[in-house]
Amino acid sequence: MGKIIVIGGGAAGMMAAIWAARRGGQVLLLEKNEKLGKKLYITGKGRCNLTNACDTEELFQNVLRNRKFLYSAIYSFSNWQAMDFFEEQGLTLKTERGQRVFPQSDHSSDVIQALQRALKRVGVQIQLYAQVSEILTEEIFMGVEHNQTEAKRRITGVRLSDGTVLNAESVILATGGCSYVSTGSTGDGYRFARDLGHTVMECLPSLVPFETKETWVKELQGLSLRNVQVSIYKKEKLLYQEFGEMLFTHYGVSGPLMLSASSVLNDYIKNMPLSMTIDLKPALSEEQLDKRVLRDFQENQNRQFKNAIQKLFPAKLIPVMVKLSNIDPERRVCEITKQERQAFIRLIKGFPLMLSRFREFNEAIITRGGISVREVNPSTMESKLVTGLYFAGEILDLDALTGGFNLQIAWSTGYLAGDSAV
Ligand SMILES: Cc1cc2nc3c(=O)[nH]c(=O)nc-3n(C[C@H](O)[C@H](O)[C@H](O)COP(=O)(O)OP(=O)(O)OC[C@H]3O[C@@H](n4cnc5c(N)ncnc54)[C@H](O)[C@@H]3O)c2cc1C
Repeated sequence: MGKIIVIGGGAAGMMAAIWAARRGGQVLLLEKNEKLGKKLYITGKGRCNLTNACDTEELFQNVLRNRKFLYSAIYSFSNWQAMDFFEEQGLTLKTERGQRVFPQSDHSSDVIQALQRALKRVGVQIQLYAQVSEILTEEIFMGVEHNQTEAKRRITGVRLSDGTVLNAESVILATGGCSYVSTGSTGDGYRFARDLGHTVMECLPSLVPFETKETWVKELQGLSLRNVQVSIYKKEKLLYQEFGEMLFTHYGVSGPLMLSASSVLNDYIKNMPLSMTIDLKPALSEEQLDKRVLRDFQENQNRQFKNAIQKLFPAKLIPVMVKLSNIDPERRVCEITKQERQAFIRLIKGFPLMLSRFREFNEAIITRGGISVREVNPSTMESKLVTGLYFAGEILDLDALTGGFNLQIAWSTGYLAGDSAV
């Protein structure tokens, strides 16, 4: 049986190597870094949200682009099979809010160690500091169809940056995307694939924070708002509306709600700004909120405005709310007019911000775009252009929301590529 080379020792590459070897392949895993799984190490804030324990339908709903392409991969190696796989390697798992699955230990390093144990057990040869610079192919004659000669290429091996040539019958390309470059995801694989005739869909940062026009957001840095509703508009058109948790940073807004928004709003990346409102009290209608504020004001008639609203918001938010309300902070609440109070209610229900731009790749959890899935066989992950070339993981034009879904894409496509390459 011919040799299989896996390029990239990230989540997808390790999984692909393990399954290719489990199926009897002679596998060499090439990683340019000094160790495997550098990105995996920083996932889930160092805890690694490795998959999601939802049902398959829900899993697909969390995949934003090219979900149909993933059917075979997910049905071949589902989230439940991924969990079984890790438990077989001795990793105890736990499920948290939102069905997010983590190692019981809360250490991503344990996930990497589990993969390393599996790689060792099945005899995968690992070469670190091995930077691939080119994938080598030769032309093969496929036959004549409609008077046109169909020529195709097939894999012969790879060249490393030091010039060494390694022969192989199959290559699994799992070099990841181009976010968090320091982990090794420098987009090399896109160049290799492009050189072999593949289409690479435009790469954009996704699951990424936003900058805001309002520079005063830095006064709110570190403030996390739970149970708020965010609405994002282009002019009058509502583009995104979701309920959940967000975070203020020194440059703008982040947190789960905003990261998800970035995935949905990528198409506007070159068409900014977008306006955003935050409903700080989504559980109350304007009337209910007015009653509540009125009650607070009546109980504190002689207090100053800035002191009378303390129960309504987290302390950090109060000076900003006072400033945006245009009500004198020193004014006694009994002097506040009905119109002023109602404008204040509208501010609470529609706290305004202007999203000026997406942050860059070095802050993006994933890359949107990548190898066009039209040129890849969904049942095998094999290139339709080059025999013996397979793809796995984030290099493909697939992306999903947070919750463990992106790693599940890496596990499932890695499994299928490894299984098929043998
Ligand atoms: C901060 C952060 C947190 C995240 N948290 C989560 C989470 O909790 N849950 C989740 O599901 N997803 C999470 N993700 C996304 C997830 O990490 C990625 O989707 C996943 O790692 C992609 O795996 P991959 O194997 O395709 O690519 P990578 O993990 O990027 O691996 C690619 C590997 O290829 C190597 N390589 C590249 N070029 C070459 C070359 N020329 N020669 C040799 N080797 C090469 C790289 O060094 C790298 O090791 C997170 C991402 C980030 C940045």
